[in-house]
Amino acid sequence: MGGRALPGLTDAHIHLESLARMRIEVELGPARSLEDALARISRHAAKLPPDAWIVGRGWYNDAWRDPRFPDRRSLDEAGGGRPAFLVRKDAHSAWVSSAALAAAGIERGTADPPGGAIDRDAGGEATGIVRENGVDVVRRVTPRPTDQQMDAAMSAALRDLSRLGITSVHSMDRPVAFASLSRLHARRPLPVRVTWNLPGARLEHAERLGLRGGVGDDHLRIWGVKAFLDGSLGSRTAEMLDGSGMPVLPQAELVELARRCAAADLSLCLHAIGDGAVRRALNALEPLVGVSRRWRPRIEHAQCVDPADVPRFRRAGVIASMQPVHAVADRDLADREWPDRVSCAYAWRALQDAGAVLAFGSDAPVEPADPLLGLDAATSWRRRAGWYPELALTPAQALRAYTVGAAYAVGMEDRLGRLRPGLLCDLTIVDDGRVAATVVGGEITWRR
Ligand SMILES: [Zn+2]
Repeated sequence: MGGRALPGLTDAHIHLESLARMRIEVELGPARSLEDALARISRHAAKLPPDAWIVGRGWYNDAWRDPRFPDRRSLDEAGGGRPAFLVRKDAHSAWVSSAALAAAGIERGTADPPGGAIDRDAGGEATGIVRENGVDVVRRVTPRPTDQQMDAAMSAALRDLSRLGITSVHSMDRPVAFASLSRLHARRPLPVRVTWNLPGARLEHAERLGLRGGVGDDHLRIWGVKAFLDGSLGSRTAEMLDGSGMPVLPQAELVELARRCAAADLSLCLHAIGDGAVRRALNALEPLVGVSRRWRPRIEHAQCVDPADVPRFRRAGVIASMQPVHAVADRDLADREWPDRVSCAYAWRALQDAGAVLAFGSDAPVEPADPLLGLDAATSWRRRAGWYPELALTPAQALRAYTVGAAYAVGMEDRLGRLRPGLLCDLTIVDDGRVAATVVGGEITWRR
């Protein structure tokens, strides 16, 4: 087989659970309008028993002809009155039907949950949009797929990642994904190495078990804890220094969470998109610098970073875990929502120049998992698009973020990330701008 051998590419921020569930649920990502989304929902519902839940994801009203948020009435009609729970593309809001609201116990007088919102119309009725922690209120009553369904879907999702040239991922999911991976791994080593980060809400269980970062083997291991500081640009909930957005974790709780993670020897992945959330993350992480050799705190996304905070990443030993494809998808939205901040947005070059370690991923299924798209987005796309081209990385720098940087971010730099004798033999072979083969631990996991 011909082509150029790269060290195996890692996706440092991916959601395996959602990638698997997409195969079981209705996928609204391709819908270009509300009508299109409703037609997909009707077709899916027609295959379901009369009282089954409609579960799905991926709708994205910003890409619709009419970008207004949808409401429950149209969904009630398309779904034949079934309970329906449809997560928005960015997972920070959900579109739910009247029956789903009823199942979740949401009535006229129900108060918003802390850190969340239940949208209401002028008359005080829930519109069918729930945001942030409001999403969980409905998710909690939504039925789960069976183990068998989940494992088949997870296996297919991993196969797809091999086809894209991916040899490792850092997954941000709930325990249901780990359970599935663990069952699959008991049958044969996973074809993609998975480092799994547990949700902040599960930290207590990990502490009680004495679960430390690195437990597992080179194909499936636990490393850290993932927690959210804010929402997203698309849902207008990114926490900004100008006071806009929606903080979802108060600072005192964040400081306490960071302290507990460091004490438990679990690293911390903090989702922070707005410049306000990024600053709060750095404030909480800075005092912990050097707490242990294995402490690899990271800020996930870091989509908008105030210039004053850029050098703090290196000083605080904080890894910038970014997803270059977000810039391509969000460019227009960022121009519109962050008119005077956009030169500090998706600023991987500024962070790199200031000495921060970069780890790149895709945030799939929010964006496509294809790492070659990501490499392009981080490098030549900015020049082609004429969008702050000074923030483009060189191809070598971008490749480092998908390999050595990603390996360092989960404490695997002694085994992964370089082509060197003694390291695990993970390769991505690229020929003619396409992946020709993928190799994990010396075994071919995919070839064209
Ligand atoms: Zn994510």
